[in-house]
Amino acid sequence: MTVEIICVGTELLLGNIVNTNAAFLAEKCAALGLSSYFQVVVGDNRERLVQTIRTAMERADIVLLSGGLGPTGDDLTKEAAAEAFGRRLVEDETSRRQIEAYFAQRGITPTENNWKQALIPEGAKAIPNRNGTAPGIIMEENGKYAILLPGPPGELKPMFTDSVVPYLRTLEDEVIESVTVKVVDIGESRAETMVSDLMENQSNPTIAPYAKTGEVHFRITARAAGSKEAQELIAPVAEELKNRFGSHIYTMEEDVTLEKAVADLLAEKKWTIATAESCTGGLLAARLVNVPGVSEVFHAGFITYADEAKQNLIGVKEETLKQYGAVSSKTAEEMAVGAAKAAGADAAVSITGIAGPDGGTKDKPVGLVYIGCYVDGKVRVEEYHFTGSRLKIRESVVAAALVLLRNSIIAQ
Ligand code: ATP
Ligand code: MG
Repeated sequence: MTVEIICVGTELLLGNIVNTNAAFLAEKCAALGLSSYFQVVVGDNRERLVQTIRTAMERADIVLLSGGLGPTGDDLTKEAAAEAFGRRLVEDETSRRQIEAYFAQRGITPTENNWKQALIPEGAKAIPNRNGTAPGIIMEENGKYAILLPGPPGELKPMFTDSVVPYLRTLEDEVIESVTVKVVDIGESRAETMVSDLMENQSNPTIAPYAKTGEVHFRITARAAGSKEAQELIAPVAEELKNRFGSHIYTMEEDVTLEKAVADLLAEKKWTIATAESCTGGLLAARLVNVPGVSEVFHAGFITYADEAKQNLIGVKEETLKQYGAVSSKTAEEMAVGAAKAAGADAAVSITGIAGPDGGTKDKPVGLVYIGCYVDGKVRVEEYHFTGSRLKIRESVVAAALVLLRNSIIAQ
């Protein structure tokens, strides 16, 4: 089946908001094995919206619409969809009760236009909204589907995952399952080359590479009559990737991030950690704190930007800074050891480098970074050369720091 995504909103056309819903929906649809050939953004204009829906219904089996389901005058998606399908709007009893309950729970009196949200096109199905008042809507005609979703990502995402994905799965005779193999410490092109023979001969399952900052992901996707059969198709391919990438794979779980994998390794060892960051200004600590429950292992993060801070907070020696400079292997080493000591942690990671765009010299160019890792009484420092914008360099450094930490723990 094919899918077309229509995002509604003049704000999107003007660039006032970024169309994250399109990216989210497109990625989810691809994972479901739905093909997509067009994506449209249209403003809050009824005529153009009706036209856009009609065009999409002609060239796709499933049309997903995001936005314009709210109670205000510029929210027109439902009205336009009803018109495109030639249907009237009728009140949906369940949606009305849900709206009543939503307001009662919050102790707010609904305004007249809130009841507009209980109207759905005749013959359509309402999808409950746990995070707002506008229900989603599913319309079907001649084997084609239009699915209307609220614009706020906090409402759209859970509604799509919890209600629409299971619904879409029922439309297909086949199921699509996928497993993502996440690889670090091997560049994108080398990683692809290592499995190019598998990728060339693929049909079911398919293998698709995705490059992330400091990581390469391979998604293995299989189609089969049932979930068990799909998993059986995936298993040998996953096994082969395991053989080829070995310990470079940090997880094969969809929702495990690199920082989560590293935090789990630390927890296994019962080690606590501290960070000392210069050019990344806390980005590494922030990534660790993405992990729920990281308090078990993460003790303290120092942002030691000035030389004095490196000396006073984490005990870097004045002579070291004078002799080698702040961006040096020796400073990174003393930062790591000093941070662990100051925080009373078992391990520490330190970062010192030049993120640019200014501040580089011939000897120490922009992108030069030293990352230190203190684990189990031993300290290891690596030198890196990154390229790109200031932000790109800082994000790459953080990924490299997590990889170095992971390698250091695994090597124990
Ligand atoms: P509401 O009941 O809040 O009016 P709605 O379903 O009518 O919801 P819109 O009015 O189109 O949706 O958008 C509401 C808000 O949702 C926008 O201001 C924006 O913050 C967010 N939003 C809408 N569309 C998108 C999108 N495509 N990507 C990301 N965010 C979006
Ligand atoms: Mg709105």
